[in-house]
Amino acid sequence: MKIENTIYLDHQATTPVDPRVLTEMIPYFVETFGNPHSSDHSMGWKAAQVTERAASAVATLIGADTDEIVFTSGATEANNLALLGIARRAAVSGGKRKRILLGATEHKSVLAAGKALSTQLGYNIEYVPVDGDGNVIIDEYIRLLDDDVLISSIMSVNNEIGTINNIELLSKHTHDAGTILHCDAVQAPCTIDTRNMAAHADFISLSAHKFYGPKGIGALFVRRDLREMIEPLVYGGGQQHNLRAGTMPTPLCVGMGVAARLLASDEAETERAAIRLRRDNFIEELHQLSWSIHVNGPINDRHVGNANIRFDGFSAHDILSALQPNIAASTGSACTTGIPEPSHVLRAIGLTGQEAESSVRFSLGRYTTDEDVQEAVALIDQTLSKLANSGLVASA
Ligand code: PMP
Repeated sequence: MKIENTIYLDHQATTPVDPRVLTEMIPYFVETFGNPHSSDHSMGWKAAQVTERAASAVATLIGADTDEIVFTSGATEANNLALLGIARRAAVSGGKRKRILLGATEHKSVLAAGKALSTQLGYNIEYVPVDGDGNVIIDEYIRLLDDDVLISSIMSVNNEIGTINNIELLSKHTHDAGTILHCDAVQAPCTIDTRNMAAHADFISLSAHKFYGPKGIGALFVRRDLREMIEPLVYGGGQQHNLRAGTMPTPLCVGMGVAARLLASDEAETERAAIRLRRDNFIEELHQLSWSIHVNGPINDRHVGNANIRFDGFSAHDILSALQPNIAASTGSACTTGIPEPSHVLRAIGLTGQEAESSVRFSLGRYTTDEDVQEAVALIDQTLSKLANSGLVASA
């Protein structure tokens, strides 16, 4: 996928909207634009019907029921709603569970919510360590679980290195300890079959723009019997079972629903296999070059589009800026851009600060072609030569 002269290899930061998604969204901007909460007229009923259908498609993607889906502005909000929501409600109802477990490589929106709960409400936040591939260490998790843990939050698929955690196993241990599991599954739908996830996790966060839907919408799955345990972040007219007040954005809901439907089909596996093959070719071709590179994270079982590559002796920032405007990729998570620390994910799997700063995340997606891969490898090769010749290479 080339946009003007840029090869787009940053699908884990965001994806383009699939044209099939956009086509179905358009009528809900100017024709069927009624407020889905207007219960007095047929235009409102129509809008309510389509938002319900969209919630049903999102529910199907994770094996939930329609009334367990709460639309949010994205996964940052969904993660905050799950963690702040449960902890604030527990605090006002005098709950005794004061510990919260977070995976060490969670997204900043989970880690920052944890920090806020620690400073504002005195919760003890503990981080579950990961192994060298980025998987949560199960024995450590079991050791940390106890009857004073309110909730734990473990991601399904990591956004930087593509590690896939075993949510089924983690949920078993969580539930054995009488605790609740929240799962940030933002990166999951493009890479694994999520259609049974709600049977394991109690809360699940999703974001439409990570799976070819529009930006500005996400969802939190809330297991029906836990609804009363969540304090909303936004108060108002009681929409969405009092969990998230405000008028639902019909076109965005529709878009998320269509994007979810496309990934809940059996065809999704064919697409994943094609992306995986292209990603493997990309890595293989990079290995063929004369530069010293390493793949960060798991070798086999990882996000199908993810290639997190360490270029020994080079700075990822130098590589990416020299590649502009020809390749879009990123240094770790896009959400931490601007923060001058090395990626907490790469540090958690044991990389040194220097190794982390030599690492670039490439992520392939639905529209990446073989030509994109060939061209990207050639561009990376030329760029590394250029940097090496200009002395912009650290002594490894
Ligand atoms: N969790 C993960 C794992 C993510 O990759 C992201 C996006 N970078 C988010 C949460 C936040 O999602 P959103 O952009 O919808 O707020």
